[in-house]
Amino acid sequence: MAGLLIGASFHGVLLMSSSSKDYATDAHGWAELLAPRTAKPALKGKHRAAFTVIGAGVTGLSCARRLAELHPDQEILLLEARDIGQGASGRNSGFAVSVSHFFSDNLQPPLAAQIDDYRRINRANQAGLELLREQVSAHSIDCQWRDDGFYHVAADEISKQECGYLEKLLQRMEIKHHVHDREALNEKLGTRHYHSGIHVPGGVLLQPAALVQGLADSLPKNVTLCEQSAVLSISNRTPITLQLEAGEVQTDKLFIATNYEAPKLGVLNRYMIGSTLTGSVTRVLGKDELASLGSLSHWGSLSLHRGGATVRLTTDGRICLRNTAEYNGAKLFDDQTLVSRQRVHREAFEKRYPQLADVPFEYSWSGVEGISANGTNFFGQQETNIYYAGVFNGSGVSRGTAFGTALAEYACDGQSSLIDDCLAFEPATWLPPRPLLDIGAWFTVRSRFKGVGLDR
Ligand SMILES: Cc1cc2nc3c(=O)[nH]c(=O)nc-3n(C[C@H](O)[C@H](O)[C@H](O)COP(=O)(O)OP(=O)(O)OC[C@H]3O[C@@H](n4cnc5c(N)ncnc54)[C@H](O)[C@@H]3O)c2cc1C
Repeated sequence: MAGLLIGASFHGVLLMSSSSKDYATDAHGWAELLAPRTAKPALKGKHRAAFTVIGAGVTGLSCARRLAELHPDQEILLLEARDIGQGASGRNSGFAVSVSHFFSDNLQPPLAAQIDDYRRINRANQAGLELLREQVSAHSIDCQWRDDGFYHVAADEISKQECGYLEKLLQRMEIKHHVHDREALNEKLGTRHYHSGIHVPGGVLLQPAALVQGLADSLPKNVTLCEQSAVLSISNRTPITLQLEAGEVQTDKLFIATNYEAPKLGVLNRYMIGSTLTGSVTRVLGKDELASLGSLSHWGSLSLHRGGATVRLTTDGRICLRNTAEYNGAKLFDDQTLVSRQRVHREAFEKRYPQLADVPFEYSWSGVEGISANGTNFFGQQETNIYYAGVFNGSGVSRGTAFGTALAEYACDGQSSLIDDCLAFEPATWLPPRPLLDIGAWFTVRSRFKGVGLDR
C-alpha cells in the first residue's frame, strides 16, 4: 500500500537515543535576531494524551494544529527537544516555495513524465503556502511575510542551460514567469553577477524563526506544547509509551515530525541523512548602502544549481546569503568551522556587491536539513498508530506544512487530494550501514548538491 511503512519496520521497544544531549543547539540562528521569548515548560512526570506529536518545526506544528481542529475535545501533546525556532524550520533561508524549480541532473530538458511529478509537488507546495498564509493572517504573525516571488538566477555557463530548461518547464506548465537578462537583474537586484534569471511570482519570503515562534504561540488551546522535551525512546506496545528525561507519555496515536533525527528513535534508519548548510547575514544596511543596490526594497534569489547560493535582501535591510551544503554527521558546525565558512560567504558577497565590501556580517549560522538519497519525501504510517512525515531536501517550509496537515487528516481516516499527493511520493532509497553510511552520506550530499560552489 502506498505510503505505508516506507522504511524499516520496528518491533517492541524502538532504538533509543542516549540522552537529551543528542539534541544540541547553538546561539547562531534567526531566533537570535528576535526579541527574547519565554519557552514553554519542559514535560515532567507522567502524562496521558490521545494524540502526541514529536518535533515542533513546521511539520509538527501544522500536524498538531490540524489534530486540534479535528478533535477539539481532546488534548494534543506537542514535544520539542529544543526551543522553538532552533530546528531547520527556524534556521532556513526563508523562501516559502510555491513553484519548485527544475533541477536537471543530466542537463536534459524536463521529460513529459516529470511534468506530472512537478505538478503534484507544486500542488503540495501551494497547499502548504495557503495554510501558512491563513495562519499568519489569522494570528497576525509578524514574520516579514512578503509575496515577492523569487528570482531563479544563473551566474555560470551550466546554469545558463538550466535557465532555458526552467523556462521550458514553466511554459509547459503554464506558470506565469518573466525572463530577465543581466541588465534587468542589475536594475532590480543591484548586482551584475548574474547573466540571466527568471522571476516566478507566488513564492513568499519570510523570517523563519519569527514564523515558527508565531505559529507555536498561536496554537489552539487544546495543544500543550513542551519545549526542551526530547523524546528518548518509544515503545510501540499498546499504549504507545514515550520516555523523556524527566517524564513519560502514554498515547493512542503518535506523529513523528523530527526531520533527519527520526533514526535516533529507531525510525526510518538508513533512509535519511542530515546535511549541514551555512549562511551569513549582514548588519542592517544604511540609506546610502541601500541606494547603491537595485530598485527593489526586498527580494530573494535562488541559484539554478541544486543547493547553490540563496541570497536575500530582507525587509529590514540586511543581505543574507547561504552557499554551502555538506555532510557533517547531521550536526551543526562548531564556531571555528563557522568562521571558515563565513570566509566562503564573504567571497560570494563581495563578488555580488563589491560596493559593500566594508559591510560586516552580523552573524553566521548553520542548520541541518534532512535529505534522502533519491530526493523523495516521507509520508505515511510506520507502525500501527505511528505516523511520520518529513525530509524535504532543502525545500520544506510550505511542503512540510502541507505534509504535517495531511498526516493528521490521514491518520484520522481523512481523504483528500492533498493526502493522495503526499502518498504518491516515490519510496526512498536505502543507505548502507556504518561506516559505509558516512561515506555514502558524504557522497549523497555531494551529488545532491553538486551545484554548490559553481556560482559562488
Ligand atoms: C540552512 C537551511 C536553509 C534552508 N532554506 C530553506 C528555504 O529557504 N526554503 C525552504 O522551503 N526550506 C529550506 N530549508 C529546509 C527547511 O528548513 C526544512 O525542510 C523544514 O524546516 C523541515 O521542517 P520540519 O518541521 O520537518 O523539520 P525541523 O524544522 O527540523 O523540525 C523537527 C523538530 O523536531 C525536533 N526533534 C527532533 N528529534 C526530537 C525528539 N526525539 N524529541 C523531540 N523533538 C525532536 C527538532 O528539535 C526540530 O525542532 C533549509 C534548511 C536549512 C538547514
